[in-house]
Amino acid sequence: MSKGTKVPGYMQGKGSRNPRGIIGDREIRYKCSLQNTILDVLRGRPGWQEVPGQNNVQQNVQTNAKQQGTTPQSSKSGQQTSGQPSSNTGKAGSGTTSTQGTISGNKGSVRIPQQGQATQNTVPTRMGFQSIPPITRNSDGDWDFYWCDREWLAQNYDTMFLYEHQKILHFRNHYELTRKNLMVKNLKRLKKQTEREQGKAEGLSFEFFPTTYELPSEYHIFVEEFKKNPGIIWIMKPAARAQGRGIFLFRRLKDITDWKKGEYQPLSDPNREVPETYVVQRYIENPYLIGGRKFDVRVYVLVVSYNPLKVWLYRSGFARFSNTRFSLDSIEDTYVHLTNVAVQKNAPDYDPDKGCKWSTQQLRKYLAAKHGVEAVKKAFKGIDNIIIKSLQSVQKIIINDKHCFEMYGYDVLFDSDLKPWLIEINASPSLTASGKEDYDLKFGLLNDLLNVLDLENRLTGKEKRIGGWDLLWEDGPILADDGNMECTPNGTTASIPNSFLGCHNDRKRQLRELYTAAQSIKKS
Ligand code: ADP
Repeated sequence: MSKGTKVPGYMQGKGSRNPRGIIGDREIRYKCSLQNTILDVLRGRPGWQEVPGQNNVQQNVQTNAKQQGTTPQSSKSGQQTSGQPSSNTGKAGSGTTSTQGTISGNKGSVRIPQQGQATQNTVPTRMGFQSIPPITRNSDGDWDFYWCDREWLAQNYDTMFLYEHQKILHFRNHYELTRKNLMVKNLKRLKKQTEREQGKAEGLSFEFFPTTYELPSEYHIFVEEFKKNPGIIWIMKPAARAQGRGIFLFRRLKDITDWKKGEYQPLSDPNREVPETYVVQRYIENPYLIGGRKFDVRVYVLVVSYNPLKVWLYRSGFARFSNTRFSLDSIEDTYVHLTNVAVQKNAPDYDPDKGCKWSTQQLRKYLAAKHGVEAVKKAFKGIDNIIIKSLQSVQKIIINDKHCFEMYGYDVLFDSDLKPWLIEINASPSLTASGKEDYDLKFGLLNDLLNVLDLENRLTGKEKRIGGWDLLWEDGPILADDGNMECTPNGTTASIPNSFLGCHNDRKRQLRELYTAAQSIKKS
């Protein structure tokens, strides 16, 4: 423990590391690639200390392994996916470090590179075992927690070992869910499989994403579909861009033909770049309007494991409104049709003081007053269904890793019948606050995320609610305890799902009670 670090009571007098691989006996060392709310949260957390230097992975493995008294592990503890190499021969397990620089694991040994050296490994792939020579490096064992960006992970994960105690943001191939074309492809596949195995009726539970095609690969199928539904509006979106960039709406095939000519014409020039992948999607022409304006809802979801699937849903979030009244007359006006804050804040009459957000609590209350509690429950249950089905659609594809977690930002749009539609899923939802209320929301959200990960080992691991996060799924649906039913003013009984999106978020009171209870359980 470094001198001068204030140690909170719960960390004092802890013994050795516990079986959940979390740290309770010393300060927690973190790295963070972002300069926004998450950094404030990490800096404000008692007993956590920033590791100097950003994004640096050192190769001083031997020293680290000795210092830690632990051995670096393969960061792949889950299944492989096609074409994804693993950097390890197998699991290094809980072996010991020898002076020759070898980690003896349960299933073999891995040579530890000396400073600046690389190792060669046999790499398991889906096709069998293949020998390819990646450069393997150990993560710098000096950190316990890394809020890294996706680019860093993409560049480093495949060639990196992680220590038992390390937690890192993002699963390796998170893009299977967060790239627009792949999300739809995975959802279509699970829908088909469900129809085949459980019947057409069950397949109806997947009717929450608008008809979508990938371009250019599915252009011809799209044209057929287009001709079947003359006059409807479609929306074109670049598959891998964000914040409304490159999006446009169209009604006539001619518009896309023009676009096709401009963007896509096959490339006689070998130096011309490969055309960007787009999705073309049926536009939801009847969005639910409040004050004549369209909105979508940002929902935060935390996945701590894909195998088994373990999912938490945050109670708070917000609705993002467009600044201009909705109309189908001017489909070229992005201020009418795109609800992204990044778009709306550039609208000529945008008022930064008013902003264009409502809390999810405010939205739920408004909808309940207008349509009744039951209608709202049904609508929000639809969001639970979207979350679980979408995660299940990639459950077998995501490279599961006990070191990784992901906080997704789901974008959901209600239509005029209060049916929720999945618009997209973000792996890096914005953590920059647009005002005081937004800051408080994000600060609480991220603090509670750290509470769920519980690197301090203060909890029992059996909790269903931690601050504003409710456990929605753990290898199956989670039902609420009686004590948790505070959602509706008239109260509900019996087994309702443990899902409280838009419900009262008394996170501080709940945390106080939770930690007191957990402490006494642990003592006894
Ligand atoms: P980005 O990643 O660029 O934000 P999105 O898919 O989230 O792209 O779309 C941006 C915005 O466009 C959404 O927030 C929503 O307001 C609107 N939008 C996107 N798809 C549709 C759709 N199919 N129907 C209606 N509105 C949509």
